[in-house]
Amino acid sequence: MSVREGASSVELVEVRTFDVPLTTRFRGVTRRSGMLVQGAAGWGEWSPFPEYQRPEIDAWWRAAVEATVEGWPAPVRSQVPVNSIVPAVDAERAGAFALAGGCRTAKVKVAERGQELADDLARVEAVRDALGPSGQVRIDANGAWEVDEAVRALRELARFELEYVEQPCATVEELAELRVRLARAGIEVPVAADESIRRSGDPERVAALDAADVAVLKVQPLGGVRRCLELAERLGMPVVVSSALESSVGIAAGVALAAALPELPYACGLNTVALLAQDVVDEPLIAVDGAIEVRRVAPSGDDWRAADELDRWWHRRLSDVEEGIR
Ligand SMILES: [Mg+2]
Repeated sequence: MSVREGASSVELVEVRTFDVPLTTRFRGVTRRSGMLVQGAAGWGEWSPFPEYQRPEIDAWWRAAVEATVEGWPAPVRSQVPVNSIVPAVDAERAGAFALAGGCRTAKVKVAERGQELADDLARVEAVRDALGPSGQVRIDANGAWEVDEAVRALRELARFELEYVEQPCATVEELAELRVRLARAGIEVPVAADESIRRSGDPERVAALDAADVAVLKVQPLGGVRRCLELAERLGMPVVVSSALESSVGIAAGVALAAALPELPYACGLNTVALLAQDVVDEPLIAVDGAIEVRRVAPSGDDWRAADELDRWWHRRLSDVEEGIR
């Protein structure tokens, strides 16, 4: 199979579609699927979420082409510290999620629809108790709060010594306003931008408007490891590498970015293979003692292969991108 990317033709040795169940419902879905592609430099993953369209999914394809054709820049570290993920579960269950994989940093989901601030406070308190004072606790609101709500919530949540709050509000303007309001109120919680970086179409506005202290970068949505390294340099703020809920093949690209960054002051959000009930490799890229090893992986077995209809859907989708880029 030959696929064109920019001016150069990309020779792919093999393309396989995967479809695996998740352990729990996430982003409203219960399965994750995508394509695994092999080229001269190794395997890459192309797995834009089903509702995503061109041209957004072109960047995801560029990331897969980089992995398969060019390979990644040399690592400067052999391990990447990662955070555990605590979904919007009851406080009683939160501690066990926080300690998974031996992680010393936990990211706690807050502002879930249908829940109250009291639920967030109980969950974050349980996570702080589980990790102890030396652990790091960060929260992610996925843009759900208005600025006033965010100030009110963070005033309460700040007592658990938060490392940062990820995407507290939806827009870059709101993030900028929130940072000013927090500073005025003496609430010391740094702000991280996630959705504002990868879906706004203009990641650099976050830096231009002084809207965040930390940038969350994801390799596939941002078009590859090298593009992320360049963006990190332009943003001039600390970076947390995060996943797009990929299989271990896709996670390897995130690990490569985290391994190549000159500075890595925070644990990364790359331990998401733990959310898949099944992976595509024999030795998944998941945390041991709170860190993921820097290495490349290749798929094995075939119990993760997608059924024919889904496989055809992914091939059609790839042809569209191929046509469009050409
Ligand atoms: Mg996030």
